[in-house]
Amino acid sequence: MIITVPFVDLNLQHQPIQAKLQQAIEDVLVKGDFILGQPLSDFETAFAVASGTKYGIGVASGTDAITLGLQACNIGAGDEVILPANTFIATLIGVVSAGAKPILVDCNPKTALIDLEAAAKAITPQTKAIIPVHLYGQMVSPSQLLDFANTYKILIFEDAAQAHLAEREGYRAGSVGIAAAFSFYPSKNLGAFGDGGMVVTNNPDVATKMRRLRNYGSSQKYVHIEPGTNSRLDTLQAAILHQKLPYLSQWNSARLNIGQRYDIELVPLASAGIIPIHNQSGTGHIYHLYVVKIDDSCPIQRQQLQGQLTAAGIQTGIHYPIPCHLQPAFNYLGYQQGNFPQSEQLSQQILSLPIYPGLNNSQITEIVTAIYSILKIK
Ligand SMILES: *Cc1c(COP(=O)(O)O)cnc(C)c1O
Repeated sequence: MIITVPFVDLNLQHQPIQAKLQQAIEDVLVKGDFILGQPLSDFETAFAVASGTKYGIGVASGTDAITLGLQACNIGAGDEVILPANTFIATLIGVVSAGAKPILVDCNPKTALIDLEAAAKAITPQTKAIIPVHLYGQMVSPSQLLDFANTYKILIFEDAAQAHLAEREGYRAGSVGIAAAFSFYPSKNLGAFGDGGMVVTNNPDVATKMRRLRNYGSSQKYVHIEPGTNSRLDTLQAAILHQKLPYLSQWNSARLNIGQRYDIELVPLASAGIIPIHNQSGTGHIYHLYVVKIDDSCPIQRQQLQGQLTAAGIQTGIHYPIPCHLQPAFNYLGYQQGNFPQSEQLSQQILSLPIYPGLNNSQITEIVTAIYSILKIK
C-alpha cells in the first residue's frame, strides 16, 4: 500500500535545519559534557522563559517529569490527586509512581478536557492536587482552574506534554500551576532525537528539590539527602532541542493554520456526524493533534472510515482507544466500564487526522476529499 499522507513526518521539520542540528551535536561531541552540561542549563532557562516561568529542570522523559515533578511539590503517599480518565496513560503512571492515590474524573465531550464539575465532586479532605491535561494542544481554562484550586485549597500541576507554548486567557501552558511537566518525545510539538522531558516552575523550592530528585537525591556530590533517582535530560538532547526552540512558534502556527482549515472544510460534515473537538482557545491552540468525533449519526463506523482512509493512503490515529480506567494494569484501582461515560464514548468515536508543519494544502485537500467521498457526500 502506498502512503501518500503519513500521520507524522519529522523529516519535514529537521531537513531545513539539518546543518544547525549537526553542528550542535558535534559541539557536544567535542566538548564531551554529556551529563548536566552547559547546553542543558542553557536550554532549561530558554524553555522555562518561553513557557512563562523562571526555572526549568530537564529530565529523561515526560513521564519522569510528572513523577518527579509531583514529588518535588511534596505530593505523594497519603495524597489524592485528581486527573482526567481521558488522557495518555503516562499521566496516571506519573501519579502512581509518585506514590499518590489517583482519582480519575470524566471529561467534557466537546473539548475532551477534564470536566471541572466532575472534579469538584471528587474532592475529599485528602485531595492535594489536580492535574489538568492540556490535551491535543488546548489548555484547560486557566481562570477556571485557578478558581477551582482557590476554592478547594489544592495545588495545580499541569500535564503540558502536548502543549508547548499553548496559550489561553493570557497564560502560557506550564505557568498556571505550582509546576508543570513537558515531554520532548520525538513527535511532540517540540521533540528530541529520543526521549526527554522537563519540569517548569516559578517556585525556587520546587526547582531545588527537582534538581536533587533527578540526580540521585544529591545537591552536592556524594551527599544524598533523599533517595531520588537518575533522570536527567542528556546534554545532547538539550543541545538539539535548543536549536529547534526558535522554530517552535512558527511550527505551532503552521499546525494552527491546518487546524483552522480542517475546521472550515469539515463544517458541512457535521450533519453527517463528523464533529471536530471544539477549540475554545482561539489562536492559543497549538494542535498537537487534530481530533474529530464520528458520532452515532454517521452512516459509517469509525473503524470503517479509518480503514478506507488507510486504503486511500492516508494514515490516521486514535488518541486514545482505551481510557485509563479500563486499562488492565489499573484494574486494582477498582474502576469499571460505565464510570466515565464521556471518556468511554470518546474513546470509541475519536479519530486523529494528520497534522504537522509541512503538511501541505494539496495533502489537506486530499484528506478532506477522501472523507467526503467515503461518506458519499458532494
Ligand atoms: C507524551 C505524554 C506524556 C509522557 O511523555 P513521555 O515523554 O512519553 O514519557 C505524558 N502525558 C501526556 C498527555 C502525553 O501526551
